[in-house]
Amino acid sequence: MRIFDPHIHVISRVTDDYERMATCGITHICEPQFWLGQARTSVGTFVDYFKHLTEYEVARAADYGIKHYCCIGLNPREANDDRVNKDVLAILPEWIKHPTCLAIGEIGLDDHTKKEELYLVKQLELAKKNDMPVLIHTPHREKFKGTKRIIDICKEVGNDPDHVLIDHNNEETIPATKDAGFWAGHTVYPVTKLSPERACNILREFGTERMMLNSSADWGPSDCTNVARCVAEMRKQGFTESQIQEVVWDNPFNFYAQSGKLEAELAELEPLGAKPRTMLAPRR
Ligand SMILES: [Zn+2]
Repeated sequence: MRIFDPHIHVISRVTDDYERMATCGITHICEPQFWLGQARTSVGTFVDYFKHLTEYEVARAADYGIKHYCCIGLNPREANDDRVNKDVLAILPEWIKHPTCLAIGEIGLDDHTKKEELYLVKQLELAKKNDMPVLIHTPHREKFKGTKRIIDICKEVGNDPDHVLIDHNNEETIPATKDAGFWAGHTVYPVTKLSPERACNILREFGTERMMLNSSADWGPSDCTNVARCVAEMRKQGFTESQIQEVVWDNPFNFYAQSGKLEAELAELEPLGAKPRTMLAPRR
């Protein structure tokens, strides 16, 4: 069983973690840009970060047979910072063209401010113009309210639901995300988010279609093998191998393949019999 972790921040992990991921069947990962824990004060630090995501991490992952992709954007927390927000937005049109950038992300809401909404709208418009998928972060605080607001904003901007992945869902937000017809991510994280058991209970109740699991492993207490742990939990709960493959491989692959940048990957996977079962064709 191949595993694609669609949301992980390996910049903050040690190389041993790549070995652990490879050992438990994780062959593909996608790293969205995020807040690095310390406020950045100029656009140059974002340029260096985007270079890191598209060069150094790709090479570090390849040493363990892992394909590393990324999402590029302006995260909601730093959308509030006038020292960087405008300048970062200005460099995004070029960076999102990078061959390993599969989506604009993670964007969204964090502290529910007007400025966050403004930069969310601008980046959704950029995604629409470039026919690109988007990865959307939902807030930790007032999550339900924030998720509803994000769904309304996506509808107002008119992004194709096929291109929208709403992340960090829980029992409270998943009905709204599913109703809107978006892809739904679930973060399995030891402290503030879901356990493997809770994530699998959601899959049992709401089905496997358009559902994904991720570790969001970062500098906090987190575990880069959590998607693999969920595979074990899904088996324990009686899911079929086909359902498990849909959640941990087909869905993330097919969502990101809409970028049009996974075609070489598909050509490599086909002879191995590992091509995901395709739901949606790339558009370009
Ligand atoms: Zn994240």
